[in-house]
Amino acid sequence: MASLESLNFDNSYLRLPENFYQQVKPTPLRDPFLIAFNAEVAQLLDLDPCEVNPPLLTKFFSGQELLPGSAPLAMKYTGHQFGVYNPELGDGRGLLLGEVVNSQNQRWDLHLKGAGKTAFSRFGDGRAVLRSSIREYLISEAMYGLGIPTTRALALVGSEELAMRDGMMEPCATVLRVTQCHIRFGHFEYFYHTRQHEDLKRLADYCLVRYFPEHLNSENPYLAMFRTVVERSATLVAKWQAYGFVHAVLNTDNMSLIGETFDYGPYSFMDEYKPGMISNHNDHQGRYAFSQQPAIVHWNLSALAQALLPLIDRDSLIPVLDSYPDLYTQAELTEFRKRLGLQSQSKEDKDLVQQLLTLFTKHSVDMNRFFRCLSSYDGSDVAIEALSELTNKTTEPSPELRKWLDLYDKRLIQEESDNSTRHHSMLEVNPRFVLRNYMAEEAIKEATEGDFTLIHNLITLLSSPMQENPDFMHYTEAPPSWAGSIFLTCSS
Ligand code: AMP
Ligand code: MG
Repeated sequence: MASLESLNFDNSYLRLPENFYQQVKPTPLRDPFLIAFNAEVAQLLDLDPCEVNPPLLTKFFSGQELLPGSAPLAMKYTGHQFGVYNPELGDGRGLLLGEVVNSQNQRWDLHLKGAGKTAFSRFGDGRAVLRSSIREYLISEAMYGLGIPTTRALALVGSEELAMRDGMMEPCATVLRVTQCHIRFGHFEYFYHTRQHEDLKRLADYCLVRYFPEHLNSENPYLAMFRTVVERSATLVAKWQAYGFVHAVLNTDNMSLIGETFDYGPYSFMDEYKPGMISNHNDHQGRYAFSQQPAIVHWNLSALAQALLPLIDRDSLIPVLDSYPDLYTQAELTEFRKRLGLQSQSKEDKDLVQQLLTLFTKHSVDMNRFFRCLSSYDGSDVAIEALSELTNKTTEPSPELRKWLDLYDKRLIQEESDNSTRHHSMLEVNPRFVLRNYMAEEAIKEATEGDFTLIHNLITLLSSPMQENPDFMHYTEAPPSWAGSIFLTCSS
């Protein structure tokens, strides 16, 4: 096991040509203090949590000192923001500190978000505020706990430094993001749109070796890589849809090549199922509304496909791109089958899911509470009453719920498993706890007053979201009324 000073850095991205990045040091944050450190993520880096000295860690992750072996850089990328190509993007407030190779030969990027200005900061101050940093820190662990692919976060550091957001001064912070991949669709778009085709190939080769080595000997490695990106993206968005997650800023520069949820901003888990839910106040047209996500990810994949045209002929790319809708539909069905406790497959499942979503929409159901409740469903009156409470807030089931439960009862008869096996499998995929915006808001409020207890508690709770936790039962109830008026913007 390593200490912070002896992490095994090997910075492969730095070996790429200089036009791939700008080498730049972090701008130290003023008067930093450690808020949270994730011992589980530390293990990924072979970092012994017991060997971590908090004051030193605070220096490293506030940019005051450089980790031995780190060689910070800001990556250059571009991308489509809200459908419009922006050639000016790149890491404007985050730096890749370097890559740590662990004893299992896994290569992890350490990215310090909020590290100060770079050549790509444009009009920005290079900072991340405490509010958005807490949200990223919490959601990374919450998504991981749910089994939804995501970047992770090792540490959260606060500071006395202030930055202006939405007309107010707010404290700054940093998050140390850990993932194997910081390559965005926008990395490819940069080299394509600036006609640097040799470097486009270099980037693709880098990604093949690092992320898709199984395709190196394929007949067409680039095409095989693209197919995997399409598959993983479809699987990822299916999980978002199945758990009511709204990413809210699905620009192509926020799309990870390896299909992880990436670059958290004004995201939400929906407290009430509303397909048109827009989680970003700045998204006036609802481009990134909940129900739009599958189609938007397809759109983003087409932007990536276009960027790959110098490497893959059009006739080969198009069928792979066109395979996305079916892949998505299948993946979505797979997710819902799991949530419904169905081990077998039946051609009626699509309709069963569709009718359930119609029911959710009609009554603005809290889908995550509904699925948890359904996990103990045994057809009894008590079970039906509990589900009724969650749909139309009375013990008398609505006609739609009755109709759906009839379908579900019939479907369960086709299953070979008994109630208890089904309950067991459902309790493993239907969380008791999800990170609702109001929970994050409470943690932010307390942290602003200097109390970080709730951040720590939420991390413990959300890393095992399927487990009962008697101390936090209030989070299993309906959210408070003010939860509906939380206002999220790009700066969140
Ligand atoms: P995001 O909305 O975080 O995905 O960021 C979009 C682009 O704006 C990226 O190129 C970021 O690096 C850049 N950016 C966002 N916030 C800031 C900031 N405060 N200072 C500099 N650049 C920023
Ligand atoms: Mg981004």
